[in-house]
Amino acid sequence: MLKKDRVLVTGAGGFIGHHLVSYLKKKGYWIRGVDIKEPEYEKSQADEFLVLDLREKDNALKATKGVDHVYALAADMGGMGFISSNHATILYNNSMINLNTIETARTNGVKRYFYASSACIYPEYRQKEVNLTPLKEEDAYPAQPQDAYGWEKLVSEILVKYYHEEHGIETRVARFHNIFGPLGTWDGGREKAPAAVCRKVAIAKLTGNHEVEIWGDGKQTRSFCYIDDCIEGIYKLMMSDFREPLNIGQDRMVTINQLVDIITDIAGIKVVKKHITGPQGVRGRNSDNTRLRKELQWEPEISLEEGLARTYKWIEEQVKAKIVS
Ligand code: NAD
Repeated sequence: MLKKDRVLVTGAGGFIGHHLVSYLKKKGYWIRGVDIKEPEYEKSQADEFLVLDLREKDNALKATKGVDHVYALAADMGGMGFISSNHATILYNNSMINLNTIETARTNGVKRYFYASSACIYPEYRQKEVNLTPLKEEDAYPAQPQDAYGWEKLVSEILVKYYHEEHGIETRVARFHNIFGPLGTWDGGREKAPAAVCRKVAIAKLTGNHEVEIWGDGKQTRSFCYIDDCIEGIYKLMMSDFREPLNIGQDRMVTINQLVDIITDIAGIKVVKKHITGPQGVRGRNSDNTRLRKELQWEPEISLEEGLARTYKWIEEQVKAKIVS
């Protein structure tokens, strides 16, 4: 891939897209960022940033014009609270975004296309236990994702596969497993578990009320991957010649209760966990990184403790600024 390649990042106003733009900029690419909004916490380093709604085909045509590579990250998404209660909206919005983006990439002659899929595509029946067997890419079928969000991701994986087969566009597909880090949504209802827990712990620390609410019994398990590792994985996959879906995530599984303990250690406080009813998603989830190691000769390297320390620091600053204002 030549450094003079022109790149489009969709979802560039969002968490992963914004970090990806900064990373690709350092590598010397010319970048167009597209999103329905500009990044919330920091200015984009994109050479051009277009505010466009990709549910409209004319907008997607503008977005994909004159670029060699597309990183398709735009999606209507959020944490479990959002995903489990907006099925029709998510299915409609994300289908429109992905159909328009790949089709206009094809008509505009884009050579290489990265699609951001998710661990949410894995079938619910494989994720009923906290101590589940880590999920291999081939476990996706027979399909039974828990939510519309996962079904749409699965169909879009197939969509890009057929665009390769029928139209020759080079496609790459990553299945992200719970990506977290600074500059991600931390309040408002779309935040995911690591950011939500960091916020709750920061509020506990700053207000002195040390009771922290946890959705469910806190025994549900997940693996969490720090943003810098995710970005490195995206780029390595895009550079590779591997066209099948690939997990990008950590394979260290922790319970939500353990996640809270790590964050309270970082914050230097003790909290009382109050378990309340709330959407929890599947009971357990972990990434099997066998294929990732084989295909990219790499896997995520930043420890959960290190990643959370960086994330907590940033979120505590945000909470402090909000409390003061
Ligand atoms: P995010 O919500 O921060 O970013 C997505 C961006 O897409 C947002 O800025 C949003 O405004 C934009 N968008 C939504 N609708 C749009 C539209 N109609 N037109 C143009 N832009 C639109 O989410 P993220 O965490 O940065 O996720 C990026 C991608 O990775 C998404 O496709 C998401 O589904 C996928 N993913 C993320 C995770 C994770 O843990 N963060 C896990 C699995 C998959």
